[in-house]
Amino acid sequence: MSSQPTHTIYVNSNKSGNTQQTVSSDSTNNASEGSSTASNASSLIQQAQQFQQLQQLQQLQQTVIRHPILDVTYEYQKQNYLPVLHCLRHNLIPKDFIDYGGYNILHHAVSQGSIPFTLVLLDHFKIDVNIRSRINQTPLMIACNYGFIEIIKILCERGASVNVQDVNKFSPLLYSIQHGHIPQLAYLLHQKADLRTSDVNGCTPAHWAAYKNNVFLLKVLARFGLDINGTDLTGMTPLDRAIQSDSCEATAYLLANGNGKLPPNLKFDSISNVDIKEMVRRKFFPTSWEKFKGKAKKLFFRHSQIITFATYGLLWISMMAMYLHVVMYKGFGYTFDLLFLLLGLYFIVYAFWYYMKSDKHSNKVKASSYQRLNKSSEMLEETLNTSTDKIQPRQKLNYEALDKLVRGEDKESIICEVESADFPSFLHELAWNFEMKNYKEFGRFDTKDYCPTCLTRRPERSAHPESSKTCIPHFHHYSYCLGKSVDKTNHFLYFIMLVKQMALLGMFIVSVWATQMDTIENGKVWFLETGYRLAVDYSFSYGGIYAVFLILAGYNLFFLWVEVYGILRNVTYYEIFNRNSFKRLYQMKLEKNGAYVNRHSNPYDAGAWENVKQYVRRILY
Ligand SMILES: [Zn+2]
Repeated sequence: MSSQPTHTIYVNSNKSGNTQQTVSSDSTNNASEGSSTASNASSLIQQAQQFQQLQQLQQLQQTVIRHPILDVTYEYQKQNYLPVLHCLRHNLIPKDFIDYGGYNILHHAVSQGSIPFTLVLLDHFKIDVNIRSRINQTPLMIACNYGFIEIIKILCERGASVNVQDVNKFSPLLYSIQHGHIPQLAYLLHQKADLRTSDVNGCTPAHWAAYKNNVFLLKVLARFGLDINGTDLTGMTPLDRAIQSDSCEATAYLLANGNGKLPPNLKFDSISNVDIKEMVRRKFFPTSWEKFKGKAKKLFFRHSQIITFATYGLLWISMMAMYLHVVMYKGFGYTFDLLFLLLGLYFIVYAFWYYMKSDKHSNKVKASSYQRLNKSSEMLEETLNTSTDKIQPRQKLNYEALDKLVRGEDKESIICEVESADFPSFLHELAWNFEMKNYKEFGRFDTKDYCPTCLTRRPERSAHPESSKTCIPHFHHYSYCLGKSVDKTNHFLYFIMLVKQMALLGMFIVSVWATQMDTIENGKVWFLETGYRLAVDYSFSYGGIYAVFLILAGYNLFFLWVEVYGILRNVTYYEIFNRNSFKRLYQMKLEKNGAYVNRHSNPYDAGAWENVKQYVRRILY
């Protein structure tokens, strides 16, 4: 102890264990030294010197602990680390020192997110990486709580236990889930953290995700086969927790995807949020009209193709019958009549083929975006082996734990419905970035880019409709009539359908209108008036049919206009009506007043002619 501190330091410790520890270690030292005293005088002198040094050290510790001016613990909480490093260097405080707040210096270093201080404490002073606070928290739990990615990596590399729990039975995984840190969660799962954990109240990750209104996480957990209807120790389900915290989106998801049973402890009258109350009422206490609507919807979805085609058939027959009775020989002449009847015949055959012959199952998506990950794994191994970072041997890339979860090899997991020959999930990608220390990637992490059900990065311009099992690339809309999504593979057929409908409806409406125009002298009749005249001159039903076709023509014109606009501007139906859910459809633009504003813009728009060429190319290939 030659170099004594130039300033005295005060450690505000009310833990008597620290001083006791040093005293006891002194006595064992003395005992061991005592056995060798009889040998010679020089060792006796040495021993006396050591004894003197120990006495000095004890005096110094007393000074350090009692001094009223400089409080080491206060200093390191203010991120002034020098005094405590000095004390550690000269053994003035023990490594496992727990301050009055109940934490070790390492806990503070981690909670402050200080990477250099954490590294010094771990690698130089060899503080235990799993050191427990007074409430049994490990540094890893604190890092997961704040989501400090680099520190989590540092701690795990140095052997931090992943499956530990504090006094509230919170594990590092639950801390990450509680704060919605998805990349951190992926890394913990990669490190074999147990997903089937629960806190002191029996709350599972699903309870916490619901409580925090994290629907993305809820979907991922459901995908892993975690029970989203289970009760905790107080008898609360995730749905109860979602309602408790006014989490609208999570409540809606759990109502739609839960087991459909009213949670036993839910008190309907005590729900304060009006929207949630209405959702719960509609689900569990529907009116008879809502019940009927629900049943009708179900019936329609089950037989959508037949019902759609039957409706088409009825409308077609009434249109043809009315044409033959009202327009034939009176409209625009024989050529027009022949053209209309031929087009009508062709249309009904096409509609039959389009609706009845289309496969009802969705197309299967290959996770091609992840081939990159597989290919680079050899390069990755090489990089890891030649790494100059020799602090601790890096773990080899072993996705055993993640693979198990994703492929549903856990016995409680659901069987994966997605084609998954070897598809690494986005959790693999996140864990890979963790291993490669690509920390910048996490700054760009956005849950909107990933599908929680397919567990992959969303394919380009895709969406995952509720009724579909996979993400649909180049998604236009989900057609309930077809029972599948309209995407780039069948959009052209849909477009042709709209064009034919428009042609037939247009010819019918105009020709009927023309016949009515001929019957009066001044020759001015509006379309709506035609319906009225038909009802008076022929029968009431003719007027009604004409009105229905007018409305249908209006609808058809709107959808046709949307599709024509979509083709000319290279934008899908889904992107037009849900553009808020696409980050790529917005760009920062400089306004005239010098401010940058996030404006809507379409990066795929290459000019009308180029867009049409692209559209044709998409049909052909
Ligand atoms: Zn998907």
